[in-house]
Amino acid sequence: MDGAWGAVAVYGVVSKNDLIERRFGMIISIASGKGGTGKTTVATNLARSMGCNVQLLDCDVEEPNAHLFIHPSFEETEPFFMPVPEVNETRCTFCGKCADICQFKAIAVVNEHVLVFEELCHGCGGCWEVCPVGAIQEGRRKLGVIQRGQSNGIEFIHGRLRVGEAMSPPLIKKVRSFENPDKLTIIDAPPGTSCPVIASMKDTDFVLLVTEPTPFGLHDLKLAVGATQILDIPLGLVINRSDLGDDRVRKYALQRRLPILMEIPFDRQIAEAYSRGEMLVDVIPQWKDRFLRLYDQIQHLSKHQTLNTKYQTQRPSLTARIW
Ligand code: SF4
Ligand code: SF4
Repeated sequence: MDGAWGAVAVYGVVSKNDLIERRFGMIISIASGKGGTGKTTVATNLARSMGCNVQLLDCDVEEPNAHLFIHPSFEETEPFFMPVPEVNETRCTFCGKCADICQFKAIAVVNEHVLVFEELCHGCGGCWEVCPVGAIQEGRRKLGVIQRGQSNGIEFIHGRLRVGEAMSPPLIKKVRSFENPDKLTIIDAPPGTSCPVIASMKDTDFVLLVTEPTPFGLHDLKLAVGATQILDIPLGLVINRSDLGDDRVRKYALQRRLPILMEIPFDRQIAEAYSRGEMLVDVIPQWKDRFLRLYDQIQHLSKHQTLNTKYQTQRPSLTARIW
C-alpha cells in the first residue's frame, strides 16, 4: 500500500512532512467517467477522515449508495417536485405560442388540444409566461425525495429519483442547495459525463476523478477530463485498483500533467470491507492519514492550480510550472 505515496511523490505538491492548515468551505466533487471505479469509496472515506465540519452530498440520485457506508440516521425526508404546465383548455385559443417557445418539445398543440409531455418538461416556465390568455398554470410533479441525516459528525444529504424518472438535474440542484459555506462539502457525483455530472461538478472548487488502469478506465477518464476542462475546474486523479491493468492511465496523466493524488491497490481486505458496507478508514486505520493527505493536496491545488485547465493542452509549458 505504500505505493499510494509513490504516486504522490511523482506528481505531488505537498510532501508528507508539510504542515498544512486544513480549511473548510471548499466544495470537492468526486466523479468518474464510468460507474464502479470506487468513486463512492473515495467520497465516503474522505468525509469520514475529515471527521467533523463536513457534509457529504450524494448527487448520484439515480442510484445513491453512499448511505450504505456512512450509515446516517435520517432526520428528514421530504418529497421534491418540479414545476410543469397545467393547461386549462376552456381558456385556450390554441394559438401555439406555448409550443413555439418550448425548446424541449414538451408541449404541443394538436387539433384544438394542448398536449403536455411531462417527462420532457424542464420546468423553465416559458410556456405559462408567453400564454396570452393565462390558460397555463404552474403545476408540479414529483421527481423524488430528499433525505437529510447525520453520521458521526458528517452531515449527510442525498436525493432519490423516482423509479423510471430521467430528469435528475433538478433533484441534484436541490441536493446541492444544502451546501454550507462554513463546512467542507464533498459531492459524490453520478458516473458519466452527461448533464447530471455537469450539475454535480459545476461551481465546485475541485474535481477529483477516480479511475482505474484499464482501457475502459482510460477511455472514460479522457471524457471526464474533457468535461472538467470545459467547466474550468482544477482537477486531480485517484487510481483505484492501481496494481491491476496497465500503465496507460499513468502515461496519459503524465502527458496531460494531471496530478495523481492517490493510488488504492487491489486488496482483499479492502474488497471485503466494501462488500460488508464498511469504511476503508475504519477497517485499516492507516488509510485515514492518506485521505487527510489527499485533502491537503486538493487544498493546495485548488489554491495554486490557478491557470485555466484548458491551458494544459494549449500551453503545456505553463502547467509545467504549476506541477
Ligand atoms: S399559449 Fe396559451 S392559448 Fe396559446 S395554445 Fe398555448 S395554452 Fe393555448
Ligand atoms: S415549462 Fe418550459 S420546458 Fe416545460 S413545457 Fe413549458 S416551456 Fe416547455
